[in-house]
Amino acid sequence: MDGKFVPKSEAKVSVYDHGFLYGDGVFEGIRAYNGRVFKLKEHVDRLYDSAKAIAMDIPLTKEEMSEAILETLRKNNLKDAYIRPVVSRGAGDLGLDPRSCEKPCVVVIAQGWGAMYGDLYEVGLKAVSVCVRRNAPDSISPNIKSLNYLNNILAKIEANEKGGDEAVFLDHNGFVCEGSGDNIFIIKNNKVFTPFTINNLKGITRATAIELLDEMGYKVIETNLGLFDLYTADEVFVTGTAAEAAPITRLDGRVIGTGKPGPMTLKMAEAFEKITQSTGTP
Ligand code: PLP
Repeated sequence: MDGKFVPKSEAKVSVYDHGFLYGDGVFEGIRAYNGRVFKLKEHVDRLYDSAKAIAMDIPLTKEEMSEAILETLRKNNLKDAYIRPVVSRGAGDLGLDPRSCEKPCVVVIAQGWGAMYGDLYEVGLKAVSVCVRRNAPDSISPNIKSLNYLNNILAKIEANEKGGDEAVFLDHNGFVCEGSGDNIFIIKNNKVFTPFTINNLKGITRATAIELLDEMGYKVIETNLGLFDLYTADEVFVTGTAAEAAPITRLDGRVIGTGKPGPMTLKMAEAFEKITQSTGTP
């Protein structure tokens, strides 16, 4: 926290921090596999881009931030972990104006982590499309990984209530965006499609999946997709740092494809596992 390592019980932030008061800040979710941080540069770059988009200067260089992330992993003796850098606007006056905040508060949290969906990778997730819409790009851009995750939480609540494992967000035009914490791909007639990123977070796992699929000989087509395209797809899967590559086999009560994780999804997940196990920053 702000340059010091402190035990969990002492990691406390001011109640005047505008991250706490207003969600004014940015964050990342990063994974380590076998003691190596996966896609460190990409995550640090996205953190600084998010900060730039909300006009906040992170008081560390990217190199210092990267080192803080690696050192937090080491200090906690973690091999397979989830790492959460958070940069909030810092403590200021009550009132929205960020100029009252002297300097951003920088925190890096690391904890042990396994596969997020446990046994569900074998059978696939049940997803539900939700009423809450993803942020419009002309308000809080979904490309900013900000501390404003209320829409995503509302989506999760709705999915939970409807017995789903994950939510599917639509945008204000009815196009499919993403899950509450992951990006969406579909496969139809051996072609792979994924929504544009104007209404989605530009997922780092999404980019990795596109590369892996490309290596497998499938050029991913970025396009507008509707729920119809998902209902009638041969396969649907989501990608994310926490979710990795997870099949969706039910959506709004419809069975997707055969109802089992499809061959391309499984091939992709296998390739993804290989790359997470063999790359990363030690
Ligand atoms: N979409 C949202 C809303 C997310 O929060 C995340 C997770 O960070 C993703 C997509 C997936 O992005 P990534 O693969 O970079 O973790």
